[in-house]
Amino acid sequence: MENFDLHNHSTASDGLLSPAQLIELAARNGTHAIALTDHDTTDGLEEAERAAREAGIAFVPGVEISVSWGRTTLHVVGLRVDPACPELVAGLGSIREGRLERGRLIAAELERLGMPGTLEGALELAGDAAQLTRSHFGRHLVQAGHVKHTQQAFDKYLASGKPAYVAHRWTSLENAISWICGSGGIAVLAHPGRYDLQPSVRREMLREFGQLGGEGIEVVTGSHRPEEYATWQRVAAEMGFLASRGADYHGPGESSHEPGRLAALHASLVPVWSRWAH
Ligand code: AMP
Ligand code: MN
Ligand code: MN
Ligand code: MN
Repeated sequence: MENFDLHNHSTASDGLLSPAQLIELAARNGTHAIALTDHDTTDGLEEAERAAREAGIAFVPGVEISVSWGRTTLHVVGLRVDPACPELVAGLGSIREGRLERGRLIAAELERLGMPGTLEGALELAGDAAQLTRSHFGRHLVQAGHVKHTQQAFDKYLASGKPAYVAHRWTSLENAISWICGSGGIAVLAHPGRYDLQPSVRREMLREFGQLGGEGIEVVTGSHRPEEYATWQRVAAEMGFLASRGADYHGPGESSHEPGRLAALHASLVPVWSRWAH
């Protein structure tokens, strides 16, 4: 099997490894082609591409775009995007603009719950206010001794439905897909098993995703439990989606799978990379 891993994060968003460190880890793990897909930014791509060239593995420039579909947040991965495309650059910038204000609201909730100073703490970890994510709040809560590990920060405070969750308006599904496709990329729905939707609504979402130009869904991902792979394999086959595979790696101690260390896609699936001459 060709070892493609098409979903990973770096310090350019909420990963713990620099783009170069991520690529080096992927290469050590025997990955043949790796995508960097940071949240709403392409800032890490240049460094990652250089590192991939040095490590002798193929590089896929990517991004993971935050989308609001009704009240649900969806993530759409763009693969083989052109980070210089003006519409993509402007679109991603418009999403990042909202992150600091949302961070202030999250911090206000945490302060109300007896945890002051979390905006400053999370910002220090994020480095850049435009990159501030809930992961940075989670890590700060660990460092400040409020929780034992990042997952607990989500389970107690930050996940949807928990007391410090703040609803936020990201971009539309239509915008995200159009920016990705407009820059020459392929749009892939990230971790479809992670969205809290009734089956009929999920179906409608997938149909809309396809109608708007989305071509793939992730089947094998670190964000699905292995027992879920078969479900999404079936959906990909039934609905005619290309299938993707990616660790959704964020860093040591935070992710179930290292880059390149996932089950293979089932041989009956059409992988997204079948589209690429390589
Ligand atoms: P944000 O874009 O700021 O809402 O942050 C989203 C990021 O938080 C995701 O990409 C994950 O890395 C992390 N995350 C979201 N939900 C959870 C969860 N339930 N458990 C652990 N991490 C999560
Ligand atoms: Mn993340
Ligand atoms: Mn995601
Ligand atoms: Mn991700």
